[in-house]
Amino acid sequence: MKKIILLLLCVVMSACGPKGRQHAYVLPDNVESKVESLQLDLARAPKAKKVLADEDRPLQELFEKSELRIVNDNFRVRVPPELVEKYNAGGYKAKLGLLHAGIIDELLSVFDGFFDNKPIFYTYIIPEDMSKKYAGHPIPGFDDDGFSMAYGTWPGGEAWLDYIPVRINIMHEYAHLIQENFNASKHELFTEGFADVVPLYILGYESKYPEYVQRVADTEIYSVNDLLAKVDMYENDAPDEICSFRKTYISSYALVRTILEKIEEKFDMTKEEAVKLYLNIYAMSPETNQEKLGPNPDKNSKEWEEARVQDSRVLIENFARLLDMDADKLLNTTEYQQEVLQEIRKLSE
Ligand SMILES: [Zn+2]
Repeated sequence: MKKIILLLLCVVMSACGPKGRQHAYVLPDNVESKVESLQLDLARAPKAKKVLADEDRPLQELFEKSELRIVNDNFRVRVPPELVEKYNAGGYKAKLGLLHAGIIDELLSVFDGFFDNKPIFYTYIIPEDMSKKYAGHPIPGFDDDGFSMAYGTWPGGEAWLDYIPVRINIMHEYAHLIQENFNASKHELFTEGFADVVPLYILGYESKYPEYVQRVADTEIYSVNDLLAKVDMYENDAPDEICSFRKTYISSYALVRTILEKIEEKFDMTKEEAVKLYLNIYAMSPETNQEKLGPNPDKNSKEWEEARVQDSRVLIENFARLLDMDADKLLNTTEYQQEVLQEIRKLSE
């Protein structure tokens, strides 16, 4: 059995082939003792290149004049000058300190032992007039000891400390910072699913959130190929809820969770172990088509989008090969995901 597993990993790896990018880590050659060897050195792990678009200069200026607040070992806040007084007076401090630091601790419990050095998460508080563009999602990070992305926080947006959707949503955004560190150019099909799978599945928030379970029960999901080729991932068909309620996000979540559950089953792993293996395979997946476009491709071009779609299909095929799934079925139908959807629906019974 061990030999078969080894062989399968080799198949996946050789499919990855030699690449231009350098990774400071390798897939372990013995899956059964792999968890120990899956440790990644964040400092050496490839960081997404900070290519700052001209339109993001105002963000850099905001960073330069902001004040730094160290909440704990894992979490730091940048406060714009106009909000320092308010922050110091306790309002934002209490919210961000309690809420975000607690959420980051919980998030890091999933990745225990994964990082050699302690990762530091940043949130940049965005003043109201810039909040439309920079708040509520990952934005370029300028702190060298942090991830390549920070979370842009709009201080008016988080009123409830223990409101489940708020917790899920904030954790979703911080999970993006981890995933972006491993590979920033992956398709939203993978990135949104990953950001949801951490709170909803691994940390079990789904079972505390009946409205979400109901939404999943009522939703007919998209296949991988539909998501890659036809659908706008940010199509908002759930305007009053958090983004996890969108049909595209549920579809993406169902896919990533299907892959995680197959990893757990095949390699007899816990959820936490499975997500580490997932990220390794994900980070090392080839991007042959994107690389063909040169070092600075036009990310608004059709060619770039097509290359990303093709590379995503290769990643799906690699997962299918590793996990004894039929790649065509995984790409073109939702059959594999139905098992996951049924598990979720059971929560409402
Ligand atoms: Zn997201």
